[in-house]
Amino acid sequence: MPTVRKKKSRAPEALTVKGLGVSSGIAIGPPFILRAALYVPPQRKLTTAEEIEQEVARFHRALEITREQLHQTIQEAKADYGKEYSAILESHFLILEDVEMIRGTLKHIQNSRLDAESALSAVMDKFKHSFLKSNNEYLRERATDIEDVKRRLLGNLSGQQRSFVVEEPSIIVADTIRPSDIAGIDRSRILGFLSEAGGALSHFAIVARSLNIPAVVGIANVTGFIGDHDTLLVDGHSGNVIINPDDRAVREYRRRAEVSRREDAELEPLAELTCETRDRHAVLLTANVELAEEVEAALRYGARGIGLYRTEYMLFSERELPTEEQQYREYLTIAQKMYPYKITMRTFDVGGDKIPLDILASRGYVREDNPFLGWRAIRIALECPEFFMPQVRAILRLSATHPVEIMLPMIVSVDEVRSLKRMIDEARRQLSDEGQAFNPSIPVGIMIETPGAALMADTLARETDFFSIGTNDLVQYTLAADRGNPKVASLYSCFHPGVLQLIRQTIDAANRHKIHVAMCGEMASNPYATVLLVGMGLMEFSALPPRLPKLKKLIRGVDFSYARKLAEQILAMDDLKEIEQTVTRETKRLLGNITDA
Ligand code: PEP
Ligand code: MG
Repeated sequence: MPTVRKKKSRAPEALTVKGLGVSSGIAIGPPFILRAALYVPPQRKLTTAEEIEQEVARFHRALEITREQLHQTIQEAKADYGKEYSAILESHFLILEDVEMIRGTLKHIQNSRLDAESALSAVMDKFKHSFLKSNNEYLRERATDIEDVKRRLLGNLSGQQRSFVVEEPSIIVADTIRPSDIAGIDRSRILGFLSEAGGALSHFAIVARSLNIPAVVGIANVTGFIGDHDTLLVDGHSGNVIINPDDRAVREYRRRAEVSRREDAELEPLAELTCETRDRHAVLLTANVELAEEVEAALRYGARGIGLYRTEYMLFSERELPTEEQQYREYLTIAQKMYPYKITMRTFDVGGDKIPLDILASRGYVREDNPFLGWRAIRIALECPEFFMPQVRAILRLSATHPVEIMLPMIVSVDEVRSLKRMIDEARRQLSDEGQAFNPSIPVGIMIETPGAALMADTLARETDFFSIGTNDLVQYTLAADRGNPKVASLYSCFHPGVLQLIRQTIDAANRHKIHVAMCGEMASNPYATVLLVGMGLMEFSALPPRLPKLKKLIRGVDFSYARKLAEQILAMDDLKEIEQTVTRETKRLLGNITDA
């Protein structure tokens, strides 16, 4: 079980290391170092039938205790951390109940005559390694969950319990931070996270972001060179970590944290104001949302709708696809909270780095060398109607009473749009035959997130009611730079002139065909891009909720005529550095010194 790592005090000297910031904000405080220090007894060969029986019984007992503990932890986590986090722990139940894991361990005890600890370790390690070997980041991250469940089971086999209590507010430092580690800590005592392993997609990074806790990952041997008596300064935005910062650095970062707090407070009243430029050009600000719990915060920050509802998040804690009725009820909860504002419901965008394994495995998913170029999103929908039709029927039923739209992800061709629209028509027909109500003119739009779609924007605009530009994928496909790979992070820029040209083509095509054009990729949340995008004619920004007030301040502080001229100037530039300098200068001029962009 993770334990506190005691280290002798040493003379503090400042040292700065750089990792990858995965959840922004600044934390200053003492470390609390978690270490995997579980005692596993040496392997034993069983010699009698009685011994085998005892080991089998011990294993079953450990399973039972672990089930109970996990249940208890999930209840606590739900209260302390919300549904998204407890869903992660619920996925541990699936590992715990896995038939192959249980059968495999029993076989090792009974046939190979191994003690329960060794049998369990052999089986779980094999699972873990096959996940670790995967090219897919999402699957590699799941290896941590297997290790987590293994440790719980081993702890219960040997009677060892979780053995740490965080007594004062601290920065949690670990090789790997597991979801169950976090559940064991009082939330008010977590100032920040620092870990060696994990990417922006690891579960703990997701949790950190949803809880607004600064986090940095990717610092090699982090538990090796940080001691209990050090003081840490973690900047979750830049990824900088200062060990034993001097007074000047602490003052400077405290000042930055204070500035950002003050800025947030100052921006709060903006939530109620209209979103238009000084010369009255209106822009719609909506929110990106994954779970029903996020809707209240989105409204508080002034969202006037949801521009991207990532419906696939509901699949991660499921073994099978939710039924039409289950989906309808989930969507209704969100729609009721957001009423009278609209919700753009994106149909399931799984695959790539988002793989609900059980659901896809039963539909023929096999490990792919390039999952981002593989079987994902509507490619699955087109092959597996049972994946698409119940969802579309649920959304259509909701459209009878609430303003909702259907958005199709990962489009590369007009054929795909036509085929999917035929499927939507079929769903309409079915509902009519059944006498169920729906909005016959529900808007159906597409994401423009592949260069192919951006280049075909004129043709696609004739087939759809709106576009939403997905820059997260558009940038990675245009610049051939994996969005989740820190090694190529410097290549991945939404201000690259090639990316800007594709965005321009998309917006211009939408304007020509008089259809609505939004952006829901992270670029829409980036204040440095706001004025440029307004000037390019973007009509809707669907952004991270806490960013909305800042975007509104920028929009309200500029004239549309000025933004247009600025956009023209920037679009004529061919040098990325020059573009970045220009948007930075302009944004700072409008906003003063901005933090956390
Ligand atoms: C995008 O690609 O920009 C997008 C919004 O979709 P996701 O991040 O879910 O792939
Ligand atoms: Mg995408």
